[in-house]
Amino acid sequence: MNNNAFTALIDLVDFDQKTIFLQNNIAKLVHGISFFEKQKDTLDIAIQKAKNNLHDIQKEVDLSELEIKSYDQQIKEKQAKLNLITTQKEHASYKKEIQNLQEKQHACEGPLVDSWNALEQAKLEYQKQLDGYESNVAQIDKEITENNKNIEQAKIELQEHIDKRDEKVKFVPKDWLEKYEILGARVADPIVTVDRGSCSACYYDVTPQHMVELKNGKLVQCKGCYRFLYIKQQQEE
Ligand SMILES: [Zn+2]
Repeated sequence: MNNNAFTALIDLVDFDQKTIFLQNNIAKLVHGISFFEKQKDTLDIAIQKAKNNLHDIQKEVDLSELEIKSYDQQIKEKQAKLNLITTQKEHASYKKEIQNLQEKQHACEGPLVDSWNALEQAKLEYQKQLDGYESNVAQIDKEITENNKNIEQAKIELQEHIDKRDEKVKFVPKDWLEKYEILGARVADPIVTVDRGSCSACYYDVTPQHMVELKNGKLVQCKGCYRFLYIKQQQEE
């Protein structure tokens, strides 16, 4: 009878392991979805960054061009006045002012060329992000849909599996079941063999008294890890 009870308990443990496997599988799929969502966020952030960068550089270019235009205007005004001036002294003074403005304007030109180059670069980068975006998002959405479908399927499979548990439970002695329920929640392999007088999970020595009890078909817990112990031969007898 006890051999049958052991077999039933081992069977139940195997059954519960399969439950855990199925649950982990679902958890992995759920995790996969959050991974894909993060990938989408990363794409959104990259495209937003490229857009902001383009905007900032465009602003820089606009400001520089405006500054140069303003110098242009000032120079033109001074030159118009210069033509009306008759005295040598005033003429020289205006000339000097115009020269100053021209120097300032010239100083703006180098940075403006740099900004133009940066703008071209930023436009290319933004376009590159835009080009890849649609197809990347579509691919990710496809993966998410696939994952969701798999999750639904896995949940059905899990439920069908769980529904069969009562069948497995009914062959396990009640007091064994209670002990197993307490232990089963904590370890993945709650029932292990005795190997050369030791627990095969934690190698804790099994006492001679426990060995006798095991041979008599009693349920014994390892003193080291509290897993259930059984002797292999007992099953095969
Ligand atoms: Zn142990």
